[in-house]
Amino acid sequence: MNTQDEDRFIRIAKGPIETPVYLLDETLIERNMKVLRSVKERTGCKIFHALKAYASFATFPMMSGYLDGVCASGLHEARLGHEEFKKEVHTFSAAYRDTEFRTILKYSDSVIFNSFYQLQKFGKTARKSGVEIGLRVNPGYSEVETEIYNPCAPYSRLGIVHSLFRQEFPRHRGIVNGLHFHAMCQQNADVLERILKSFERRYGQYIKGLTWVNFGGGHHITRDDYDRELLIRLINDFKNNYGVQVYLEPGEASVHNAGVLISSVLDIVKNRKEIAIMDTSAETHMPDVLLMPYRPHILGSGIKNEKKYRYRLAGPSCLAGDVIGDYSFDKPLKRGDRLIFTDMALYSIVKNTTFNGINLPDIAVLRAGGKVEVVRRFGYKDYRNRQS
Ligand SMILES: *Cc1c(COP(=O)(O)O)cnc(C)c1O
Repeated sequence: MNTQDEDRFIRIAKGPIETPVYLLDETLIERNMKVLRSVKERTGCKIFHALKAYASFATFPMMSGYLDGVCASGLHEARLGHEEFKKEVHTFSAAYRDTEFRTILKYSDSVIFNSFYQLQKFGKTARKSGVEIGLRVNPGYSEVETEIYNPCAPYSRLGIVHSLFRQEFPRHRGIVNGLHFHAMCQQNADVLERILKSFERRYGQYIKGLTWVNFGGGHHITRDDYDRELLIRLINDFKNNYGVQVYLEPGEASVHNAGVLISSVLDIVKNRKEIAIMDTSAETHMPDVLLMPYRPHILGSGIKNEKKYRYRLAGPSCLAGDVIGDYSFDKPLKRGDRLIFTDMALYSIVKNTTFNGINLPDIAVLRAGGKVEVVRRFGYKDYRNRQS
């Protein structure tokens, strides 16, 4: 985000908008879409948006003009993609349920299986419905340091390991259209290059005759320091070597730095430090803050002791650990002040909860023309309907 983008958010936060609110900036999402489209144009690859990261369909009509479709992780995402994005849907599930599989086929252009058992059980039904079939493999290499985000960690269930693949694949190759791997998280193209080396060493000999290879997500393509030239070269080399279509399915990259969470200070209490209690909660509205964990940036703030006025920011829930982080500011915070948490479009709305009965933030879209449209407001029923 440049200062002009920041000023736009600051102006809106000072206006009549109610808090807490996730504010999605359609212009910034479109900026990301243009970057993704440029990769498509220079490689001929297909790019699918991963609904897991962001599924706010209020911006899908714009996004679907740039991308080839979505990738889904099961029935509900496949249906949302089919009905709201209205282009291709590619579904991967670690395991499918009997009761859902046929409906998933209705919404999907390809289904990706995570084991030969799943392929044997569902493959023929998929083939008869004209849905393409892929296998997810473990590429045998990754550089994701946080264990829970590492699909190649020891004992990972995600992707068939090479020792099993080479025994079983020859018997099944006739029914398989493509291979899929996903082994990255917020990473640059140099990591992809090393993963591809490992993937090709293990699976390269099986690719001839397939239609596509899906390089998964975790490519931080729209980040300023991302090496897009390297990505483009890797895709083009791969296509030339193997004669297959390449798919990418980034989630974060689609909406990276393209939305904020605006929140108000409800109270300021004191216990050795000044603690600002916000109308938003780490636990319920930005769960990755506690899970990753990470400290979200706030416009105009400094790190813990950088600026003169220092606060711990925390949520209104009863969870002792519902702490967003320690921040400092040039001016003292006052009750009623509004703070703008940046990069809050991804893995936030899709993951939030109504724990402790805390209401969900509004979802608003800043349209390209400058109009702020509140596209969803939540209430008591959303909490109640999840309890029984
Ligand atoms: C999570 C996931 C993605 C998207 O990952 P990002 O880190 O959001 O780019 C894509 N494909 C699969 C299979 C995933 O699990």
